[in-house]
Amino acid sequence: MRWGLVGASTIAEQHMIGAIRASGGDIAAVVSTTPARARDFADRHAIPVAEDRLERVLQDRSIAAIYISSTNEKHREQALAAIAAGKHVLCEKPLAMTVAEAAGMVRAAEGLVFATNHHLRCSGSHRTIRDLICGGRIGRVLSLRLFHAVHLPPHLQGWRINDPAAGGGVIPDITVHDADVARFLLGEDPLSVVAQMGASGMGQGVEDSAMSVWSLPSGVMVQSHESFTHPFAGSGLEVHGTEGSIFARGVMTQLPVGEIELVTAAGRALVPFPPHNLYLQGVTDFLAAVAGTGQPAATGWDGVASLAVALAVREAARSGIRQQVDYGRAA
Ligand code: NDP
Repeated sequence: MRWGLVGASTIAEQHMIGAIRASGGDIAAVVSTTPARARDFADRHAIPVAEDRLERVLQDRSIAAIYISSTNEKHREQALAAIAAGKHVLCEKPLAMTVAEAAGMVRAAEGLVFATNHHLRCSGSHRTIRDLICGGRIGRVLSLRLFHAVHLPPHLQGWRINDPAAGGGVIPDITVHDADVARFLLGEDPLSVVAQMGASGMGQGVEDSAMSVWSLPSGVMVQSHESFTHPFAGSGLEVHGTEGSIFARGVMTQLPVGEIELVTAAGRALVPFPPHNLYLQGVTDFLAAVAGTGQPAATGWDGVASLAVALAVREAARSGIRQQVDYGRAA
């Protein structure tokens, strides 16, 4: 598969170029809004074509797939252009700035593969936790707690902490991932949310911390905490059920690390999980979808749903009023 990259980004550099190449993919071009950055990025990563005009790359009929990792406000327009050119699209989260825009992207991609790069559901740890839940190992699920307060490293403290127009803020950055984790593990969509958010030292015009509680159709309660300003908090999740609890530490990360502990009446036990690369798994699932033999790890609609939950959290925090989650499916 020949790919075009849209966005000379950190995530492409640190994870996705390696994942695409490890899957057997060929990276034919990179598009950046700045010609010099495109050239520099292409040279550093041995990518033959550096472009500042997306349409030039989209005209290349040998390129079958586009990976979009620009700043958030650009995803929609770039994805729609790629879709119009008949390309399969793997798009970074959040898919767009609004649920309606994201839903429009997914609808436009009918007949093509359109996937969201939610990496956590590609991890061996999260897939193992889901298997434990689905296998009844903790009985009926009562609650899920998500701990995702991290310290945003200096090299990422740009638009994320000071540019609302680019889609900055911890809610579009991390709460979307947590929404996807909850949906993936529990197999249901939050109905409504209550929330608080604030700036705790990093955010300038955007929130850098959020806490929220989500109500699910089954009655399961989800508690979620995201931040850019917590250097020593560590990440993780807990799932509590009538017959047991799962404690997963260090698993809200880009790497196949952490540990899972299952606690039941029989005692405590560490549960092993496959140590595969999360991003390679996502690309592998994307390729299976293109080949017609599988589904993307996270579909476009999964990306719409995670954005819907995140934006409901932001609105609940802004207004102080419980928000119903609007998934935009009827529009
Ligand atoms: P970066 O800030 O590294 O890159 C985003 C854009 O900023 C690039 O596309 C580039 O624009 C521009 N840019 C990059 N470096 C510079 C620079 N030195 N000077 C000026 N502009 C620059 O963002 P990330 O890689 O952290 O995030 C990109 C996207 O990926 C976001 O949508 C984010 O939400 C998502 N993401 C997803 C992750 C996941 O695990 N699924 C993890 C991290 C991010 P241009 O397009 O012009 O090249």
